[in-house]
Order: sequence, then structure tokens, then C-alpha cells
Amino acid sequence: MFYVQRRRSDLATDRALSAPVTAKSIMPRPKRRSPAPTVWPSASTRKLKSAIRNPMGRVICVANQKGGVGKTTTSINLAVLLAIAGQRTLLVDLDPQCNATTGLGHQPTARHPLVDSRPLRESFIQTYETGLSLLPGSRSFQDVDALANSSDAHSTMLATHLTGSLGSFDTVLIDCPPSLGPLTRTALGSASEVLMPIQCEYFAMEGLTQMIEVIRQVIDRSGSRLTFGGILLTMFDATLELTAEVEREVRDFFGEVVFQNIIPRDVAVSEAPSHGLSVVDYAPRSRGSRAYVELCQEVLERV
Ligand code: ADP
Ligand code: MG
Repeated sequence: MFYVQRRRSDLATDRALSAPVTAKSIMPRPKRRSPAPTVWPSASTRKLKSAIRNPMGRVICVANQKGGVGKTTTSINLAVLLAIAGQRTLLVDLDPQCNATTGLGHQPTARHPLVDSRPLRESFIQTYETGLSLLPGSRSFQDVDALANSSDAHSTMLATHLTGSLGSFDTVLIDCPPSLGPLTRTALGSASEVLMPIQCEYFAMEGLTQMIEVIRQVIDRSGSRLTFGGILLTMFDATLELTAEVEREVRDFFGEVVFQNIIPRDVAVSEAPSHGLSVVDYAPRSRGSRAYVELCQEVLERV
């Protein structure tokens, strides 16, 4: 595809031509601990400030056992936007497919940092967005196997490893693999909230009962601080009656847990990772970019 072959320098020219709309003009970048931008409603400003002061930090696990529902896309875009909003953010790539790592223009590591004995912070990568660090994934079969088949004791150790290294971030996003295996359970056990993307398609609700049961088990575990952060409808296509039906069904069933903002199907959203960029940086004027900006504000309001 042509866009895969385009270089970053072409992009820079494209982006300069499309000035003055930039990611920064859409989502002002406050200095940490300084007043939030006045364009935000005062309630969200208050909540943002309290989130920044929260010593425990937010750990948002982006999970759904289905593949292709928008977990990685949401993780990348939300992580970049939270960093632009002034949050010190870490994106953890837990999926052996490593799409969050490559989608931000980085290479997977030889060994997965989570099975490595070195402290996790030694594996953090600084991304192109100031304020956003990445814990890259690994495709190593051996490590993936070790992570995927880890026993309960091993999972607890991983959770400790993970949470022990998160203190220096305001928000941590974990991009989960498409399964309900030990890796996803470990991520849920380390998280303060779970964000579940659902694709607006026919089988959207299938398998959700299982997923919700796993979330409930983790919430019931002693010491867990997991809450249900929200359900996000993705790849919405206004021209299809089916997607509107899926929205109605999901909202009727889950009520307020469903985010007001919906992510539309937009080719810019799917092109952005091939340039190693978020959609707000790749195509700030696109519908997808605006939808993720609004989602980010909603996530900040839901502290
Ligand atoms: P998951 O991580 O759940 O497997 P991805 O985020 O990788 O899902 O998304 C699956 C595919 O759908 C990817 O090719 C991605 O680029 C594409 N995609 C995701 N969200 C959108 C969207 N809003 N519009 C168009 N394509 C999308
Ligand atoms: Mg993924």
C-alpha cells in the first residue's frame, strides 16, 4: 500500500501544509501540575488535577478476548493524548503480536521485559511524544510461552513486578492480548480499571459474559482495586443500520458504563500506525482523531 512506503519527511510536509490544525492545537498541553487549559470544562479540570495528585496512579487495562476490536488502536491513541494532556504516561505492550510497539514506530525486544530479571524501568523506551514511555513487547516464543502458561504464583510475581515499577507515572495503559489467559488476568489484577472496546458488528456481544465473569473474579479477589472503567464502541459506521442496532443493544444492556463517545470507522485511524504515529499526529483533522480527543476527555472526567 502506498502509505506504507511514504517517509516521515513526506508526512512532515503534509502536516505543515495542513497547518494550523495540529494535535497540540486540538489538545492543549498543560505543564504538569499547572492549571489545566481553560478550554476544558471546570469539572474535568478538577478531576484531572485530582488524578495527577493520585499517588497510586491510574492503571487502565484495555482488554477484550476478541481480536480486531480496537484494543491496540485505542491504547496507542489514548496513551498519546493523555501524554499531550500533561499526564506522565506509560503504555505497556502485553500482546505477543507487539502491535502497540510497532504502531509507535519501535521494535519489539528480544526478551520480554516482564520475564527479564532487570527492573522494568530499564526497559522503558521514550516515544516521540514527550511524557509517553513505552514498555515494548516481545515476540520471543519462549517468553510468550512462559507468560501465556504462567501459573497463579508466577502471575502474582508478574503483577508485583509490574505494579512496583509504575510509581513514577500518572497513568499506565496496558494493551492486552486477545485472550482471557493468565496474561490478561495478570494485567487485570494490576489495574485500577478495565476499558473494554467493542466493535460495532454482529457478534459484538458474544463472549462478553465470559469476559465480564473474569473481570468479576478479579474484582472479588482480595487486594484488587479493579473497577469497571467503561465500554467503548469502536469502528462505528453510520451508513450501516446494523451498527446503530449494536449501539442500542450495548447501551440498553450496559447503561452508563458505555462511553458517550463512539469511535467511527475511519481510514486515517488504520493508516496512522504504519507511520509510527497516533491518529492525532497523523491526521489531526480526521473524524477518528476528533473522536479519540473526545474519548480522552471523557476518560479524564471518569476519575
Ligand atoms: P485489537 O488490538 O483489538 O486486535 P486493533 O486495534 O489492532 O484491534 O484493530 C484491528 C484492525 O482494525 C487494525 O487493522 C486497525 O488499524 C483497524 N482499526 C481499528 N480501529 C479503527 C477505526 N476506528 N477505523 C478504521 N480501522 C480501525
Ligand atoms: Mg491488539
